[in-house]
Amino acid sequence: MKILLQPLGSLDTSVLKYVASGLREVYSNIEFHVSSKPLQLPEVFYDRKRGQYVSPLIVEYLRRWVEDTRCIHDKVLGIMDADAYTPGLNFVFGEAELGGKTAVIYLARLKPSFYGTSASQRVFLERCLKEAVHELGHTLGLKHCATPRCVMRFSNSIYDTDFKSYYFCPRCTEVLWNLGIQAKSFK
Ligand SMILES: [Zn+2]
Ligand SMILES: [Zn+2]
Repeated sequence: MKILLQPLGSLDTSVLKYVASGLREVYSNIEFHVSSKPLQLPEVFYDRKRGQYVSPLIVEYLRRWVEDTRCIHDKVLGIMDADAYTPGLNFVFGEAELGGKTAVIYLARLKPSFYGTSASQRVFLERCLKEAVHELGHTLGLKHCATPRCVMRFSNSIYDTDFKSYYFCPRCTEVLWNLGIQAKSFK
């Protein structure tokens, strides 16, 4: 399986590099490719009143883009340095098509500066990786998991993201294993 990491708009390359190498460690038999060309999104996806992007429109746009470009990749993970929401939720850290081809993560609320704290760059990068592993887990068919430290646990807030690991629980790992995906689990 091949997965493309696609920047949506401008993105710090250190994030891309860290997320790509972390994903390669977690999903050991998936090939991750990094796009060097950011994809620019239409302005209409930005909700001026809220100051946020509309996540479902972005996921849908990316899915069409993958189809139109006859992308050689099985899945694509969009990475966007912005804030987004989905109807019914004030914000999302990311969104994915369950069992589908497309996932997106949004970085604005993963930054320590958003919360007025001075946590390290390392904490920020780990949050990005956790959300990337999580959203791709959804595209592989995994739903949310109740195990506290499992990466598939739903994050309601940044505290949940910080609490969980970027590894799967043994049960989620087994589900992936049965699909032919080798993924790291914590003990
Ligand atoms: Zn989720
Ligand atoms: Zn789990």
